[in-house]
Amino acid sequence: MPDPKGFLEHERRVVERRPVPVRLLDYREVYPPAPEALVRQQASRCMDCGVPFCHEGCPLGNRIPDWNDLVRTGAWPAAIEALHATNNFPEFTGRLCPAPCEAACVLSIAGGEPVTIKQVEVEIINRVPSLVPRPAPSRSGRTVAVVGSGPAGLAAAQQLARAGHQVTVYERDDALGGLLRYGIPDFKLEKHHIDRRLAQLSAEGVAFVTGVHIGVDRSAADLRTAHDAVVLACGALAGRDTPNTPGRGLGGVHFAMDHLVGANRAVALGAPDTAPIHAAGKHVVIIGGGDTAADCLGVAHRQGAASVTQLDRYPLPPPARNEDSDPWPTWPWILRNYPAHEEGGTREFAVAVQSFVDSGTGHVSAVRLVDVTVVRQDDERVVSVVPGTEREIPADLVLLAIGFDGTDAVPALRQLGVVANRHGTVDCGPDWQTSADGVFVAGDMHRGASLIVWAIAEGRAAAASVHAYLGGSGSLPAPVTPKAVPLAVP
Ligand SMILES: Cc1cc2nc3c(=O)[nH]c(=O)nc-3n(C[C@H](O)[C@H](O)[C@H](O)COP(=O)(O)OP(=O)(O)OC[C@H]3O[C@@H](n4cnc5c(N)ncnc54)[C@H](O)[C@@H]3O)c2cc1C
Ligand code: SF4
Repeated sequence: MPDPKGFLEHERRVVERRPVPVRLLDYREVYPPAPEALVRQQASRCMDCGVPFCHEGCPLGNRIPDWNDLVRTGAWPAAIEALHATNNFPEFTGRLCPAPCEAACVLSIAGGEPVTIKQVEVEIINRVPSLVPRPAPSRSGRTVAVVGSGPAGLAAAQQLARAGHQVTVYERDDALGGLLRYGIPDFKLEKHHIDRRLAQLSAEGVAFVTGVHIGVDRSAADLRTAHDAVVLACGALAGRDTPNTPGRGLGGVHFAMDHLVGANRAVALGAPDTAPIHAAGKHVVIIGGGDTAADCLGVAHRQGAASVTQLDRYPLPPPARNEDSDPWPTWPWILRNYPAHEEGGTREFAVAVQSFVDSGTGHVSAVRLVDVTVVRQDDERVVSVVPGTEREIPADLVLLAIGFDGTDAVPALRQLGVVANRHGTVDCGPDWQTSADGVFVAGDMHRGASLIVWAIAEGRAAAASVHAYLGGSGSLPAPVTPKAVPLAVP
């Protein structure tokens, strides 16, 4: 029975982030651990509504009111049991999820303050001293290859290993974790969290092979022949370019991911200053408005940029939910301020880049931009220039964070006879099976660039289908179908 008055007695409070001048000196996580008293008090704000819409907001179907009440009463071991029942990796989602569950919380109706669900989630897993392996009681004798070690691949691997199948995860990179490893900076996710979880998967019997690019170093068709099933979880890592913008070929104009991956690798080596694309002393312009752009912003400030400007072609979103277009409990279009935004920099909205200006030495010296309006017509976005608004801003380093064009695992798909769709992603049937028999797909490779919570949900659901395909006994949980979409107005 939850506390019937918790939400009346306590206001929403999240733990304070580390002070900006301090955290800019390192790459450690921005959020310190939250005190137990704060977490329990905040969990007591959950009123365990008869119809918990937060379940619907969370693609994993996390049983949020259950673990909120366990935290309220200090029953931490039971809380992690309840959380792990639906989420393989709460240490990732608790740190990184944008928390659509909070947008769907009943307390957020009419502009109210939702329960701090995400904070409770991360504090539950933070209090687990060690991740106890749960190996399968018996082996099925069937083998599965998972290609890609991001959250989708790891979730599928853990589910299948626990169901008794022999799983091998193949990763082309030198370290495991997908975008969590070298895409997302340490100030959002320190990497020991990934290593701790990987140790659990290893102890459960999952085998890992790194440095093997399936489709290049080893044929995907051969992989399929050698295993009873294959799960493709290769992400959507083909960076979107702007090849027709004059000056794109100038020195100093880079894909954002080249900046981030180099910087994160340098941090992993304990030598952040050796990052190959470094912002120290430079005027940095980041083009794009999502997670990738915000991560570049945080890295650029830690590297000592002279200035950072973030350009977004969409207008400044409203500060609060528009109840007509984005009614509760949907995920609203509002201005989202990441911790990186409070560390400095300027944001310009409703602008488009016309060209990158040459310094005269083949290097970029400025970005020429213009105000624009964007309207939706027949499902297409039409961008119009506002005449007379052309201007230049200084730029020594330009980072393109304008999205992704689907998967880059093209050789593997070709060898399997699977054709990517027009978005560059891979279609599947209701059982997550691609057009190739016994070849399944999950995560960004199927959904397009999305979120960790969706990747884990798809990995779990695809694993359930693989288990059925292999004739496994019983059924595994499948929180989403391939056609599932975030809560939206029909
Ligand atoms: C910079 C950045 C920041 C982000 N921040 C957030 C955030 O804060 N919160 C959030 O929820 N989401 C965030 N995202 C999105 C999130 O990271 C992805 O949605 C999620 O990682 C997708 O998981 P995945 O397992 O499908 O693929 P990925 O994590 O992309 O993993 C795919 C893996 O497959 C490997 N691979 C590909 N092809 C092959 C092959 N042929 N052979 C072997 N291995 C292969 C790749 O090397 C990679 O390791 C962010 C994304 C980016 C780019
Ligand atoms: S995974 Fe995300 S949506 Fe689900 S409960 Fe956690 S923060 Fe909320």
